[in-house]
Amino acid sequence: MKIDELLKKKATISFEIFPPKNKDGNIDSIYRTIDELAHLNPDFISVTYGAGGSSKGKTVEIASKIKNEYQIEAVAHLSCITSTKEEIKTICKELKENHIENILSLRGDYPADPDFKRAEQPDFMYASDLNQFIYEEFGDTFCLSGACYPEVHQEADSFECDLENLVRKVEAGAKYLITQIFFDNHYYYRLVKEIRKRGIDVPILAGIMPVTNAKGLLHTAKLCGCNIPYDLSTMIERYRDNQKAMREIGVQYATMQILDLITNGVDGIHIYTMNKPRIAKSIFEAIPEVLKGMNP
Ligand code: FAD
Repeated sequence: MKIDELLKKKATISFEIFPPKNKDGNIDSIYRTIDELAHLNPDFISVTYGAGGSSKGKTVEIASKIKNEYQIEAVAHLSCITSTKEEIKTICKELKENHIENILSLRGDYPADPDFKRAEQPDFMYASDLNQFIYEEFGDTFCLSGACYPEVHQEADSFECDLENLVRKVEAGAKYLITQIFFDNHYYYRLVKEIRKRGIDVPILAGIMPVTNAKGLLHTAKLCGCNIPYDLSTMIERYRDNQKAMREIGVQYATMQILDLITNGVDGIHIYTMNKPRIAKSIFEAIPEVLKGMNP
């Protein structure tokens, strides 16, 4: 089923996973993760696509298993900045053959490897170019979605500029949006308010990442350009060397964010699971009635 059709009926709860990065290329561990996530009955699971397409085969393979073996709706991430049109066409064909109907369409970033050679004239500059290309080649085979940034994309000159580009992305075919992580819900509400003012009414799913260790959190926050609120940073300072306490804080903090978002009528919650299904399970166990009541 296409996710935009589902979103017309209900607010969704979904998970993001990534293909494991094992030197031997073995990805079996991901299926144990999916086994556990499947018990939580998500509306869909999305599978990331490595920077520079490093795990592209794995994304299709994992998304296909989610859809065809677990019978859970799958969203395949697809980034374009290092890809040619032919490569994108090939991957989309594979997705279609595997009955995957949903693509999170992304620009992506250049790989960090200093030896990586950038194309002088890339086939795609922005996610909106990818949307346009997929529509031209595949019509409405896929439901396309896009990324959005409550705290502004790092390369954008301003919030206003980023919003204008987001409008372009939706006009180029993104049927719903998933946010970058944020730890302060005010940024999410601001984005929703501003984008609605510009006449865009597609659902905006809130991307929530439960923190499980201090180092990981600081690294991710820097990478994604998101602020860490005072109360969370104080907790991290106090408990940074206590792994169990950090896990408790991560679950509690994410749970409170989700509770607030659901209370205020969010379109959907997308949990960045970091391939740690027990964390997602702990959140579900903390607010079962709230989650059940998400779609009264
Ligand atoms: P775009 O929408 O193309 O925007 C990139 C920048 O260009 C922004 O600053 C925007 O304001 C600007 N811009 C856009 N259109 C125009 C225009 N027409 N003219 C001028 N400027 C413009 N990365 C991966 O490699 N793999 C993944 O699986 C992955 N999954 C993600 C999932 C989510 C939910 C999110 C939020 C991000 C994900 N990313 C992933 C990271 C993403 O690839 C990076 O954040 C990347 O820097 C931007 O991608 P985008 O699709 O948002 O780009």
